[in-house]
Amino acid sequence: MNFYKSILENIQSYIIIKDKLNNVVWYNDKKALEIDSLPSINSFYELDNKFYECVSRIIELKNEECILKEYRDVSKYANQIEKLNKDHLTGLYTRNKIIEKLERLTNLSKEHNETFSLVMGDIDYFKSINDEFGHLNGDEVLKYVSSTIKDVLGLRGIVGRFGGEEFIIILPGKDSTDAYNLIEIVRDILSNSKVKIDGKETNVTMTFGISSSTGDKNIKSLIEEADKALYNGKRTGRNKTLIYEE
Ligand code: GH3
Ligand code: MG
Ligand code: MG
Repeated sequence: MNFYKSILENIQSYIIIKDKLNNVVWYNDKKALEIDSLPSINSFYELDNKFYECVSRIIELKNEECILKEYRDVSKYANQIEKLNKDHLTGLYTRNKIIEKLERLTNLSKEHNETFSLVMGDIDYFKSINDEFGHLNGDEVLKYVSSTIKDVLGLRGIVGRFGGEEFIIILPGKDSTDAYNLIEIVRDILSNSKVKIDGKETNVTMTFGISSSTGDKNIKSLIEEADKALYNGKRTGRNKTLIYEE
């Protein structure tokens, strides 16, 4: 986030302040005095294929309080902003971004009484893959697994890297049975394909745990439930998909 702020500082700001009669009283000048310690409110707008950031803050102008809005064209940085939300190695969403999406989906599901599923997935015996083929080849396996999951799910799922060799998948509109059927396709494709590493063919499998919600559970419990199902899958042999049961 620091990086993002520092790029914004280099952009020319464009300021217009209007008085109560809608006359422009201040234009592209930075003499305005910030009087309030309230955090400034940032919002983003998209207009004619351009992205703008708007920073609003309360200032004092000619002894009157008013709101100063600075619009900054951040179109050039839209790609960089998107990149900040993605994991460097796999190109999947970061853990933070996926949790943000999960929060939004939880609220929407509650509002519309719709079910969604959350899946935690973990590569089986990944340490052995690293030990046998080296860390860099292990990274290649992570990329392979990530693109396979993304390709199979397509628009049906939102995929993130939760950390290490653990993945988090959101399946909007899918109850646990739908999610199970979908994730079983991913698991089956992975376990039946051979990956070529260093000229040698090997087999990568994954274990998945599923939990579902209609916006009635907090995110922590939802993740914990999927995690419990995942660890039951690990405990009982791996290379399987389990739905959380109380
Ligand atoms: P299990 O089937 O129980 O999940 O066994 P596992 O070996 O996959 O699990 P364990 O937690 O013992 O090991 C995970 C390994 O993942 C250890 C760690 O070095 C490796 N790892 C985590 N992040 C990365 C990464 O970014 N790249 C590579 N190459 N390895 C990673
Ligand atoms: Mg593992
Ligand atoms: Mg793990």
